Amino acid sequence: MESRKILHASGSPPGTDENHGVISPYQRQAASCLRCGYANMNLFRRPPAPHDHDDPRYPVRKTEQQWQAELSPMQYQVARHAATERAFTGQYWDHFQDGRYDCVGCGTPLFASSTKFDAGCGWPSYWEPLNSEVVERVEDRSHGMVRVEVRCNHCGSHLGHVFPDGPEPTGERFCINSAAIDFKPAT
Ligand SMILES: [Zn+2]
Repeated sequence: MESRKILHASGSPPGTDENHGVISPYQRQAASCLRCGYANMNLFRRPPAPHDHDDPRYPVRKTEQQWQAELSPMQYQVARHAATERAFTGQYWDHFQDGRYDCVGCGTPLFASSTKFDAGCGWPSYWEPLNSEVVERVEDRSHGMVRVEVRCNHCGSHLGHVFPDGPEPTGERFCINSAAIDFKPAT
């Protein structure tokens, strides 16, 4: 019973309880506290439930017309509608120059060439992003699979997926569409 007291000690209104933090509508839909019905994804160690690529949570937002004007048709379909380019067809699957790969939607630096490896899958593969803040992980249950989608954390653009079968030191494989990234050579 001690834990129940702690959970409800502040008596704050829903959404501001110090033990639950500020709760977004997305988290509210996704899961709720078994004790009191509060929604809080932190209680469940799963990636956040899916939200739109143009969700207000992303600091960089543009209209559909802007996205279509700024991106090529392939970039637009991949980055804004989570399409996947065909394996071995993209610009960077066998590209190993020194440099950096930035988000095609907003220019945020995402991956370093030093973490790129040949996974043999036909897509650019990295064992980690530049840092954990630049990418977002989102649960993806499309196509009859449970996968973890990777998005740009600044503009919400779809990048690809992350799988737990990568090389050391992380053991992760970020499988990224060439159409979602822009290469910047090292200077
Ligand atoms: Zn971006």
